[in-house]
Amino acid sequence: MVQVSPLRLKVEFESDIPELSLKCNIQSLTDRMKKDSAFWHSTVVNQDHEALRAHYALGLCGEAGEVADEIKKMSYHPDREARRVDLGTELSDVLIYLLLLADLEGIDIIDMYLKKREHNISRWGDPEV
Ligand SMILES: [Mg+2]
Repeated sequence: MVQVSPLRLKVEFESDIPELSLKCNIQSLTDRMKKDSAFWHSTVVNQDHEALRAHYALGLCGEAGEVADEIKKMSYHPDREARRVDLGTELSDVLIYLLLLADLEGIDIIDMYLKKREHNISRWGDPEV
């Protein structure tokens, strides 16, 4: 069992090639979201491509602000578990807008993640070593 910390996904895999298994498991998440994307795209009133892109970008920023607000609350709220659950909800909202924006723009977010991961490893080192 491998815990994938960047996305906080618990991933189980059997492969000797972690990146391949990681891609497969995250792919199942994006496959789910791709199936949902057409629905979510249709819920926006102005479905012009640029309007949708702006809608998702603004949604992503708004949800990131909600993440920041939850973190602020964690500094003083007595019920840390409730705050942690709410933080998870806001982080998932960020993920949804991220996946919608990537889908709209035809960006393979898994491929981009893995490329960026390789870049980060070359720059900062491999966390698995
Ligand atoms: Mg939210």
